[in-house]
Amino acid sequence: MGIQTEQVKFRKFSRTKFVKKLQRWHTNFSPAHDPDLKTSKLRLEITVLVLTVAAAILLCGQFGSSKDFDAMFRSRFSYFGDDITDGDEFDYIVVGAGAAGSAVAARLALAGKHVLLVEAGGDPNILTKIPRASLALGNSFLDWSYDTLPNEKSCLASKGRRCRFTRGRCLGGSTSINYMMYTRGHREDYDFNISGWTWKDIEPYFLKYEGLQDLNLLPKSSAAYHNTSGVVSIGYFGDSGNPWHKRIIEGMTSLNFPYNPDVNAESQIGVSKVLGFTSGGERVSTAKAYLELEGVQRNLKIAKNTQCTGVIIDENNTARGVTVSRSANETLRLYAKNEVVLSAGTIGSAQLLMLSGVGLKEHLREFGIPVKADLSVGNEMSDHVLPLVNIKVDHDAISASNPLSIGLKGIEALQWLTTRTGPMTSNSLTDVTAFLNSNCYNFTLKRLVNDRPECAIPNLQFIYAYVHKGVANIAHTFSDSFLPIAGEVLEQTISANDESSFIVISPVIMRPKSRGWMRLASSDPLVPPAINPNYLSEESDVKEMVEAIKIIEQMVETPIYKKYNASIHRLKISGCPDVDKNGYWECYVRHMTNSVYHAVGTAAIGRVVDERLRVKGIKNLRVGDASVLPHLPRGNTAAAIIAIGERLADFLLQDQWLSR
Ligand SMILES: Cc1cc2nc3c(=O)[nH]c(=O)nc-3n(C[C@H](O)[C@H](O)[C@H](O)COP(=O)(O)OP(=O)(O)OC[C@H]3O[C@@H](n4cnc5c(N)ncnc54)[C@H](O)[C@@H]3O)c2cc1C
Repeated sequence: MGIQTEQVKFRKFSRTKFVKKLQRWHTNFSPAHDPDLKTSKLRLEITVLVLTVAAAILLCGQFGSSKDFDAMFRSRFSYFGDDITDGDEFDYIVVGAGAAGSAVAARLALAGKHVLLVEAGGDPNILTKIPRASLALGNSFLDWSYDTLPNEKSCLASKGRRCRFTRGRCLGGSTSINYMMYTRGHREDYDFNISGWTWKDIEPYFLKYEGLQDLNLLPKSSAAYHNTSGVVSIGYFGDSGNPWHKRIIEGMTSLNFPYNPDVNAESQIGVSKVLGFTSGGERVSTAKAYLELEGVQRNLKIAKNTQCTGVIIDENNTARGVTVSRSANETLRLYAKNEVVLSAGTIGSAQLLMLSGVGLKEHLREFGIPVKADLSVGNEMSDHVLPLVNIKVDHDAISASNPLSIGLKGIEALQWLTTRTGPMTSNSLTDVTAFLNSNCYNFTLKRLVNDRPECAIPNLQFIYAYVHKGVANIAHTFSDSFLPIAGEVLEQTISANDESSFIVISPVIMRPKSRGWMRLASSDPLVPPAINPNYLSEESDVKEMVEAIKIIEQMVETPIYKKYNASIHRLKISGCPDVDKNGYWECYVRHMTNSVYHAVGTAAIGRVVDERLRVKGIKNLRVGDASVLPHLPRGNTAAAIIAIGERLADFLLQDQWLSR
């Protein structure tokens, strides 16, 4: 009853928030609020864009083949969903349809098991299919939109000194809203010092799912590192049409970064055009890759828009099933004959474990939760973190709000809708990346020297994005929480971006020493947990970021950047030293911190689960997702977590066979 009352409150709160947003949108655009009519003009321009896209959609429906139309609007966007009733029983219940959960559930179903996949979110929408739209999906209704606790060491330029902590909430989970970069990290990353966890053990699972489309575009030597027939299609993004794509690579090679054609082969080091979770001009989420597989639907039920609220654990510490909630008035109990699998992600799985009595005993008692297993769930969370560094460049004199620019975007949208080609098939500059060990960068020679074995293990990754002139203003007009910054930093950023386009260079620390935690904020499953990633609590992380910015300072001095008058936008930040003084960059990175949304470790192998991903002290309960990784891979995380999902499916099937 308590849970149901809180659900009503939760729903009312969301509706009020939505109405308030609408009211603010209207107020912001009323001429009374904006006497110089600047934003009213913007409203007109945005309306033109929306109408152009709508017209494109209608034209497509009218003149495209009906097969295209169906594909565009129905079959690809709506997955099968199933009715469930209280007391239903399955062989396995998997919670969370993200990177790992979709893989586990589909593999079990293909093996003939009767499986229920419980997902809090619904279908991914059309925007999730468009690679170019990926940067716009965070903070939308497809996002859990967690905020971290306020802190004094990082994200200081963000509203309330809280860091944004985006997580996908739909079929495909974060793979439906992420930036789609496909990197596996370094082989050493998978040595967990636990029996059965080395690169040799996990590599077959990376290869099992990989369906590389573009092997012919890689060097011959790459063949040994790839598979072309797995279920997850991997390929190159389309041409962004952005000239900075080539220029960034040229800038890095001027600093002696080798061009590396394949970061998933022998070496990660150098500048690369990376492969992505993309095929045929669309995103490939794990929902697309696994839930659409032939044969899956026969044995798999999907409960969409259904939030798991806990695991049912009996008096013998055996998991029997889960409780779920779909609406304010309904809590269902569903049972698993064999096992329950939590794949709800670093935050979701840890929260569910704690709600079910698996966690630190003092913490659980604080919330009156009976303790089933005293384990350090939620501790030792680590995440990739970066400072946003904006480089002002002369590139495109036309502002994003110019009708010409809007018209071009409309045409690009039309091209994508009708043919799945054109610039919308690219995630902008995000497919260019560079890995390096900054200890092997010589600042005097202005060169990456790579002169000893440790240089092969990266401690930094550069990720790039492009912000067209005027876009920050438009984005902020759409929603005051669209950009992850606030106050004076936001104002300076918008006005600098009104004058010039930005190349955003984000140096990501591969192995940050700072560790955070997450805890319950309430025993109500619908209340978001308390998340404290503790970014930059270790000085060495700040030092690595500042060193990376010193490399960026040398990068903007290379001839290609000079040619376009590139300069780092040095924000004036209250409380920080002047821009040319010692300590400025240290203070800058503490303000401009952003998560890369790769958090791992809250239910790590060794601490919370054993080497076969079984929760210690509880029978028939496993965890398989980002939470089980004891540390971060040196790269983007989705590839590794899909491999974890594949491996967990094998563990489940092998162990069930052995127990017969
Ligand atoms: C914005 C963004 C950009 C990223 N970019 C990249 C990138 O370019 N390349 C890359 O490799 N990685 C990237 N990542 C990281 C990568 O996507 C994640 O690490 C990976 O998807 C995590 O997998 P997971 O299975 O642990 O969790 P998720 O994929 O997040 O899936 C968890 C699922 O569980 C569901 N869930 C949670 N709680 C419950 C509950 N109580 N009941 C029912 N369902 C629940 C969620 O709704 C979600 O669908 C990015 C992530 C984000 C958010």
